[in-house]
Amino acid sequence: MWLDAGPEVGTAMPTPEVEIAGRVEQLLASLPPGVTLVAAAKGRTAAEVAAAVAAGIRHVGHNYVQEARAMRQLIDAQPIGAQITWHMIGHLQRNKAALAVELFHMIQTVDSLRLANELERRCSALDRVMPVLIEVNSGRESAKAGALPEEVEALAEGLTELPHLQLRGLMTMGPLIEDREQLRACFRLTRETLEHLEQRGLVSPPAILSMGMSDSYQLAIEEGANMVRLGTQIFGPRPG
Ligand SMILES: *Cc1c(COP(=O)(O)O)cnc(C)c1O
Repeated sequence: MWLDAGPEVGTAMPTPEVEIAGRVEQLLASLPPGVTLVAAAKGRTAAEVAAAVAAGIRHVGHNYVQEARAMRQLIDAQPIGAQITWHMIGHLQRNKAALAVELFHMIQTVDSLRLANELERRCSALDRVMPVLIEVNSGRESAKAGALPEEVEALAEGLTELPHLQLRGLMTMGPLIEDREQLRACFRLTRETLEHLEQRGLVSPPAILSMGMSDSYQLAIEEGANMVRLGTQIFGPRPG
């Protein structure tokens, strides 16, 4: 072969797909049993997500409804597509609620009764029950979405009035801070809030505690997370 021989085989860099597969396998092997891994897919291509799925990812989270729709069409076309559970993990605007309830199997970012009422209306029209998490602004950051910790109980009580929403637990981002102990305190507060809701019978078991991202998931698991949402750790640094 004297035509283009391509890159030298011995020195070829692993393709992004191979790197993603390796990271997924390593993560799935290292997470404690009972911890669900959600691949956070914002800013990623369908090919990258497909590589993660091929390596064993069964839960995909997205922040943006339109992008999730395009991605889901491509992943649904894969043989494994029907086995994927799709999670809405970004802030949800009420005018996107109709599309969101068609696309997602779980909505992790319910943070107001106004949003919950809109989701209820849309789920009722489709005659389906949507599992939801309440997003907690555990760091009390003014710019962040989520219910404040002291607002969570009233919101959970409000959800009991909405037959097409099923409260499954809590989600938090945690503040972007260097202080690990402060972050730990936010995760702990979220777990304690969930325990309180469970004691009051406001959560449908088994309860889900979705917290921890690439730089904080080990800490979150120490504080009781049973669902972690990882982007960078699976796909590498986000472009741009
Ligand atoms: C982006 C994102 C993640 C993942 O973040 P990484 O640091 O890339 O792991 C998790 N949860 C939410 C809500 C996100 O927006």
